[in-house]
Amino acid sequence: MDNLLILLFFLLGLIFGSFFNVIGLRIPQKKSFTNDRSVCPQCQHPLSWPELIPVLSYMMQRGKCRHCNGSISLLYPVIELTTGVLFVFCYIQSGLDFELITALILMSLLVIILVSDIRYMLIPNSILLFFFPLLVLARFIRPLDTWWSSIAGAFAGVLIIAIVILVSRGGMGAGDMKLFGLLGIVLGFEKTLLALFLSCMIGAVIGLVLLLLKVIDRQQPVPFGPYIVIASIITYFHGDILLGWYFHDWLQG
Ligand SMILES: [Zn+2]
Repeated sequence: MDNLLILLFFLLGLIFGSFFNVIGLRIPQKKSFTNDRSVCPQCQHPLSWPELIPVLSYMMQRGKCRHCNGSISLLYPVIELTTGVLFVFCYIQSGLDFELITALILMSLLVIILVSDIRYMLIPNSILLFFFPLLVLARFIRPLDTWWSSIAGAFAGVLIIAIVILVSRGGMGAGDMKLFGLLGIVLGFEKTLLALFLSCMIGAVIGLVLLLLKVIDRQQPVPFGPYIVIASIITYFHGDILLGWYFHDWLQG
């Protein structure tokens, strides 16, 4: 692995991450994300370019707006750093293969959804509609080992979540269902099932911890998207190992 390229993908991730923050926050509010300049959410003061530098500006301003002293959400630098790290993972996993493009598109989708689902409990249709053709095209150019696995994965993802929505009446929403349709295309059949299973496990564990720490109460709705995002990232990078364990140690061992 080329260290210079690793650094480059990290910096690229930081810049894209700060862009994903803006998209994830503005799209659900139907605001433009290209024309308007970024402003402080509290005093509406336009941000100058040094205040737009990912992570560094947050650290230099100690998490506060320079004009109104209002605190800046920790979500911004966390999302920027997360994107940086994920872009590096993509490069380490795929090298300079076409799959790197697929991986970067997938991570971009997941980070934007993370932002908008945490902030608004919403997975915007426009985001899904933007990424759908990109992911289909990427899997068309570089298909999975069995080409129909993408189609089966998409159908399985949508169908299983649809059943969950019907049975549970809440908990999961139509956005989660459509998102799993997109994930199925990239992950394929087996890994989509794995991602479904993992997102429920992660959701149960984190939900329980948040309840015990009294961060949330029993009635409070919790967005399910972040669990899907974490599960999909684990599955995309380590799905083969996890599936290998399962089939060897459980079924044959
Ligand atoms: Zn301000």
